[in-house]
Amino acid sequence: MQSGMFLEKNTYKIHAIPVLKDNIVWVWIIGKEAVVIDPSISEPVKAWLQHRDLKLIAILQTHHHEDHIGGSPDLLKEWPAAEVFACKRDLQRIPFQTYSIDSEEKFSLMGQEIKVLGIAAHTNSHIAYYLPKAKESDQNPSVFCGDTLFAAGCGRIFEGTAEDMFKALQKLNKLPGETEVFCAHEYTESNLRWANSLYPEDFKIKARLDAVIKLREKGQLSLPTTISEERETNLFLKATTIEELASLRLHKDNWKP
Ligand SMILES: [Zn+2]
Repeated sequence: MQSGMFLEKNTYKIHAIPVLKDNIVWVWIIGKEAVVIDPSISEPVKAWLQHRDLKLIAILQTHHHEDHIGGSPDLLKEWPAAEVFACKRDLQRIPFQTYSIDSEEKFSLMGQEIKVLGIAAHTNSHIAYYLPKAKESDQNPSVFCGDTLFAAGCGRIFEGTAEDMFKALQKLNKLPGETEVFCAHEYTESNLRWANSLYPEDFKIKARLDAVIKLREKGQLSLPTTISEERETNLFLKATTIEELASLRLHKDNWKP
């Protein structure tokens, strides 16, 4: 099993388990309890948790695609008491959900407040989980945003419109700059190569691309990113109109490295 980076935090830790070609299953841990976000497959996640004697208490699902929910049923066999959080409008597509939620709802998990952000566009019921900065903690806010915001990119628009994606990205853009962004895929290098091909004179994009190439050569992840970093080098987040976002998305969809 490949092992990702380990982020030491005062109050909690978030670990990456890279799986399949470029998916990342994030594991959020406090003490001996763990919450898994979008488990594509179960085996590496199960092994990782069992090796550390961790108890899975919940699964957070951002949307219904197989490479996000595929491992959940099997994890539930091992930890049947784990809650599965998912969008209530996805009851058909994520039928094993036990805690149905929707945009703007709040709930508490492992003592941490979580806000649900509706960010439909990639799918029409895609949600994100935002963990605001807790009092008396120096932990930065965090967001698990699935396939909507990627480092230097955004998700493909399958069920929504360019307007939906524009609104979704701008909702994420309103989060504090220091918010750590836990995307579900490691696409950063390819996204930056594309951005660099469009704007070869943009030194921030070029510098980030060079840094990410070095990280990837060493087998390291480029994630998480932050909202402030995306404000600097993510063309989709920087788009000021729906039309601009739509044409960027179309260009990227047809771009060959
Ligand atoms: Zn997806």
